[in-house]
Amino acid sequence: MAKKFSCRDIGMDCSFSAKAANESDLMEKIKVHAKSAHNMQTIDAATMGKIKKAIKEA
Ligand SMILES: [Zn+2]
Repeated sequence: MAKKFSCRDIGMDCSFSAKAANESDLMEKIKVHAKSAHNMQTIDAATMGKIKKAIKEA
């Protein structure tokens, strides 16, 4: 099942959105984006929880 995520859905003032064939591919895209755009070297547990809740069926 394809999945999608938007930074806006976790309250970020950011127009990034990503789509992938499954959740683990999507998480990889989100990690790359978080690092380059939000200067997050790692995603902390609280943010990770928000991201997981914000991931929707694409
Ligand atoms: Zn973003």
